Amino acid sequence: MEIKAIRGFNDILPDEIGKWQFVEKNAREVFEGFGFSEIRIPILERTELFSRGIGEATDIVEKEMYTFTDRSGNSLTLRPEATASMARAYLEHQLYTFDPVAKLYCIGPMFRYERPQKGRYRQFYQIDAEVFGVENPMVDAEVIVMLVRFLRRVGLEKLELQLNTLGDRNCRPRYREELKRFLMNKSFQLCEDCQRRLQTNPLRIFDCKVETCQEAIADAPKVSDFVCSECQKHFDKVKEYLEMAGLEYILNPRMVRGLDYYTRTAFEVVSYQLGSQNAVAGGGRYDNLFQEIGGLEIPGIGFAVGMERLVSLLPKDKVFVSYPHLFIAALGEEPLKEAYRMINQLHLDGIRAELDYEGKSLKSQMRRADKLKARYVLILGEDELKRGKAALRNMGTKSQEEISIDKLSEILKSKIL
Ligand SMILES: [Zn+2]
Ligand SMILES: [Zn+2]
Repeated sequence: MEIKAIRGFNDILPDEIGKWQFVEKNAREVFEGFGFSEIRIPILERTELFSRGIGEATDIVEKEMYTFTDRSGNSLTLRPEATASMARAYLEHQLYTFDPVAKLYCIGPMFRYERPQKGRYRQFYQIDAEVFGVENPMVDAEVIVMLVRFLRRVGLEKLELQLNTLGDRNCRPRYREELKRFLMNKSFQLCEDCQRRLQTNPLRIFDCKVETCQEAIADAPKVSDFVCSECQKHFDKVKEYLEMAGLEYILNPRMVRGLDYYTRTAFEVVSYQLGSQNAVAGGGRYDNLFQEIGGLEIPGIGFAVGMERLVSLLPKDKVFVSYPHLFIAALGEEPLKEAYRMINQLHLDGIRAELDYEGKSLKSQMRRADKLKARYVLILGEDELKRGKAALRNMGTKSQEEISIDKLSEILKSKIL
């Protein structure tokens, strides 16, 4: 029986990978320009890191985590997001003793047991960037500016930055109570999940897709009307710094973000490309996360970009696959040996070259060169080889010229690089 991949787990094949590499390369360049360093964290963590960090009363922790018991009886979880792990690493290695400000990014797979659908997988990829140790709203704006700059650089268009403030420990409890009171009168309209959320985490009802829940919450009080003066001041500064950077935004008072740990600034970047509305990235400030996972009182802010979504929105006319510069069609035993020797040199010279290992006919080798989309083909026969010559064919123009083999690298470099 043929073994297939697990449902919801996806292969990214060679003809797709160029897009992923393009996105990753640009993320590294943009983020490092802003002073960020990469961090690589484990895929597996203790379950309590997420249950405490993300919050027990969230969909992720309640029903989406890949949790299992290992052979020693420890409860482990495949990371459903990166922020909690990055915060754990920052505390564990006391990165704050080197510099209280840490700017970190991480690229890799996350795991959530969600219903698989088109473009959504149980193993999905995120780019995460986080700043730990700064409370100043200047850094909120800077992180958002970096995100938008990155998305524009990879070619995304029609982006909209949505902004909200979620309050903090001082003011959010009052809002929660107010929201609860408002929804109590409409609880008959709420779905089963939201009935429960009403008791445990009423803000999550904003994220519910059920229509009657959406109707129930339509006229609900807004969190932004309940924030304390400190939170309001912070939010005003964030907006001021965004304006200074020339970044437009719209206020979305209904955006609460899925996770418990967000405080104050919350944001999402939405793309209106392809005629529909797609959230490409989101994030926010989380000044209580570190305490939840047993650490010091350290502020943090960051975002996650969904790579599957981002890759699907890349410009359609851009070529992301790299094709061979040269294909050597060798005819006969000696020419094949010579081709092997030449290719090893060409690779050192930075030329992407391929050959045919099987000694097939010229016609079949030309067909393969065509299929691989090689830009040039070098036809190397016994007689030409004796004279130190070969035919170089431009596959685009179909023109052909005889060249000296010892000049090949030089000639190709002048044409290609
Ligand atoms: Zn609901
Ligand atoms: Zn507040």
